[in-house]
Amino acid sequence: MESAPTNPGRLDLARWLDEATVGWSRAHPSLARHLETRLGEPLPASWVGELDGFATTVATVIDPAVARCESHRELPRHVPYDGVGRRIEHVEFHPAHAEAASAAWAAGLLDTDLSLEGDLRLAGLFFLLAHVGEGGVACPIVCTIGLRRALERRADPALAERYVASLREVDSARAARGAQFLTEVQGGSDVGANVVVAVPDPEVPGAWRVSGEKWFCSVADADLFALTARPDGAPAGTRGLGCFLVPRTLDGVTPNGFTIRRLKDKLGTRALASAEIDFDDALAFPIGEVDDGFAVAVEELLNVSRWLNALGAAGIMGRAWLVASSFAARRRAFGRSIGAFDGVAEQLALLRVHTDAAIASTMALSALVGRLDEGTASDDEACAHRFLVNALKVVTSLDATACVHDAIEVLGGNGTIEDFSVLPRLYRDAVVFESWEGTHHVLCAQIQRDAARGLLTEGLERWLERELEGAPDGARPLAVRVHEAAHESIARLAPGRVEMLSGSAARRVVTRVTRCVQAATMLRAAGDDTAGAPATASAELFVARHLADGGPSPDWRALVAAVLGPLG
Ligand SMILES: Cc1cc2nc3c(=O)[nH]c(=O)nc-3n(C[C@H](O)[C@H](O)[C@H](O)COP(=O)(O)OP(=O)(O)OC[C@H]3O[C@@H](n4cnc5c(N)ncnc54)[C@H](O)[C@@H]3O)c2cc1C
Repeated sequence: MESAPTNPGRLDLARWLDEATVGWSRAHPSLARHLETRLGEPLPASWVGELDGFATTVATVIDPAVARCESHRELPRHVPYDGVGRRIEHVEFHPAHAEAASAAWAAGLLDTDLSLEGDLRLAGLFFLLAHVGEGGVACPIVCTIGLRRALERRADPALAERYVASLREVDSARAARGAQFLTEVQGGSDVGANVVVAVPDPEVPGAWRVSGEKWFCSVADADLFALTARPDGAPAGTRGLGCFLVPRTLDGVTPNGFTIRRLKDKLGTRALASAEIDFDDALAFPIGEVDDGFAVAVEELLNVSRWLNALGAAGIMGRAWLVASSFAARRRAFGRSIGAFDGVAEQLALLRVHTDAAIASTMALSALVGRLDEGTASDDEACAHRFLVNALKVVTSLDATACVHDAIEVLGGNGTIEDFSVLPRLYRDAVVFESWEGTHHVLCAQIQRDAARGLLTEGLERWLERELEGAPDGARPLAVRVHEAAHESIARLAPGRVEMLSGSAARRVVTRVTRCVQAATMLRAAGDDTAGAPATASAELFVARHLADGGPSPDWRALVAAVLGPLG
């Protein structure tokens, strides 16, 4: 008979596991605070209940299911033929994949309104979902949301009518999944080099036939693919691209003119099926005007993916913070709790602060998306959105990788063990979050181009000033410092100056402006706190870490203690 764990070290670890919190929404007080700030009113009781309930579902249903998919190494499998040799192009998953999807779909992420309330509700739920990393569910949800938006807002009403309800379905067994395929083998960033071709179908009015190879096709199991293709004879570059909807099958069984070459064996997002797919005369329907395809792809698909990627990165950081802080509260070394060592405490405090910054800024971005969806966004808000949707994708995904790395360090060797904690899986996923939906260099180059065209700086600075006006009285001096740093950094993005920046210099300036925005959004929601209270202390430590050059040197130890409070 197995004896009870009596070694004190094992007992501590067992307690840590037993105490693993499932109240993830309450474990991040800044989540409710920022949602309230952006909503402009106290969080309705129904939202609190919904967030708490979904946090429990993520912790007790989705997370274990995702862990099972990955720990059994039963990753998605390509099944090209059925038992009698007919081509079916199926993807088979570990059964736990359907369990995770069923719980995620039932939460209603796919059915939120395109409004301030709807987008904030989605943001809160998606942040919690991302506590499992991508998990084989986040990417399909994001792609489905993007496709629904593209169809609702751009497509011929008859096409939207045919498909939108199935994309909003909350029963995952009945729901249609969306996918979006832009990347081709000759280059993902250079979408203008796409060579997949579209020709009008001679028999079906309004329909097209699409042929060529797509190189990175996540959600290869999707029912509806959105893809970029160049109408025969259209101009080169992005302006010649169309955006098309390709149903997986036209008769419910036979693949609609496509074959899967193979599923890719990936570093992260391993429960997600990402394929190389060849199209050969697949029946396709244009989403919007055929010559407006790149705008549809960027505005309806990529901008949504980048926004939700940033929220997902915030969720990954949130989980890393919860794992590392709870571990530190239990783990002892040299007769002390490890959280009592300066280095560990500092690492934990910075983990918390970067999570707070990610939540603050992504909720601000979610509110901007909501206002744009409602048609109530001011010009300044549109500028802020244009900057943040790209800049936050860069900064939060880099922070997520760094934060998970630090959390792994807090757990020591145990942090590297696959079945000891979720951290190895989060680390792999975080690296993928960095590269898809636009690489860092490419997004910074995009910001540099937008800034050179005069589309960013003045509106962004006015928006940031209004954020800082909401800072609590006790944090005024901090707000002034953030404003000074922002003013100086945004000026470097002004037309006439921004063109002079090298790629790496542009990236540094974009990062610094983003840090200013993050600090401002943290202060905006710090409420009535006086300096030293956790929300303000968090902003102060963030400023000390990123924007303090030349400023007064803070009492680092006191700030770390104020941010962390008593661990455990
Ligand atoms: C797991 C996974 C799943 C994916 N799923 C999908 C999907 O479903 N649909 C889809 O369409 N795509 C998908 N992608 C592709 C992803 O969007 C691309 O990998 C990404 O856009 C980068 O393209 P690339 O890999 O071809 O890199 P490249 O474009 O070849 O870039 C290589 C390097 O050059 C740099 N670079 C390129 N252009 C510039 C520039 N102008 N200025 C400065 N630096 C530059 C990049 O930053 C990068 O460092 C997926 C990727 C991954 C990893």
